[in-house]
Amino acid sequence: MPALGFIGLGNMGGPMVHNLAAAGHEVVCFDAAGTAALAPPGAPCAGSAREVAARARIVFLCLPDGPVVLQVARELAACSERAVEIVVDSTTAGIADARAAHDLLAGAGIRYADAPVSGGTKGAQAGTLAMMVAAPDDLFAEVEPFVRPMAANARHVGTEPGHGMAMKLLNNFLSATAMAATSEAVAFGVSQGLDMTTILETVNLSTGRNTATEDKFPNRIATGSFDSGFATRLMAKDIRLYEESVADAGAPGTLAGMLRTIWDGMEAARPDSDFTEIYEHVRDGG
Ligand code: NAD
Repeated sequence: MPALGFIGLGNMGGPMVHNLAAAGHEVVCFDAAGTAALAPPGAPCAGSAREVAARARIVFLCLPDGPVVLQVARELAACSERAVEIVVDSTTAGIADARAAHDLLAGAGIRYADAPVSGGTKGAQAGTLAMMVAAPDDLFAEVEPFVRPMAANARHVGTEPGHGMAMKLLNNFLSATAMAATSEAVAFGVSQGLDMTTILETVNLSTGRNTATEDKFPNRIATGSFDSGFATRLMAKDIRLYEESVADAGAPGTLAGMLRTIWDGMEAARPDSDFTEIYEHVRDGG
């Protein structure tokens, strides 16, 4: 079995690498915030991305954003005694930065698949993530067995760099729309004297149901826990990437512009919040 590496052991990468290790793989881990505390028990810890590149043939990334991916890709490519041959990137890095990472790594003879994920921290823990993999057929076939323990719902969505990111951005546009629209609808209902639980239970039996009414509102907002593990700054980043990509493509973007205004406003007002706090932000006139 090839040696595996994993860089970025945060809210998503942490549970993902635990599932990879639980499936019997040895995974060389690195996180800039301190590897030992985040890595699975007994997993080998590296002191840098460069050291992961020297020890692992297939390296997974789950980093905050595209600029960090490019920084880490430069470190991997700069390793002189390289073991790394393949990088699988589960960061929501955006289309342009995924293509840039692909080209940068290709210059060093390293193959790159963009493979962003959906399903939240709950899906990451359960190993049921949807992973949207863009890679040539032979590369997908090679990485698929290592992806499955983390992402039972992995799909090969395209063969060109950036196809996975395009898929992920359009998904998060829909998810962010559901959250913002549900926040407005629930705030209206409550203003009319309806109980939030009644609203959610009734919508979930009706045509307005969506991921916000079925999951985020009953489990993270009505409970007051606001603990989805998905930061507002990451959702705002995703919506900016989507809106910019739509504009670049000349595709329809009326709602994308509105969503960008809402999520940029949310990030400015509550920079360190969980994205489920959007309900309070919208309800309070944000
Ligand atoms: P996070 O901030 O919890 O984790 C990112 C990790 O990367 C941190 O532990 C950080 O220390 C580490 N890191 C940052 N710079 C580094 C570097 N140069 N070298 C090594 N490690 C570095 O973020 P997250 O919630 O795990 O999200 C990761 C990615 O997945 C993001 O692109 C996000 O948009 C996407 N995503 C998140 C969720 C979610 O629910 N949290 C769901 C789907 C996709």
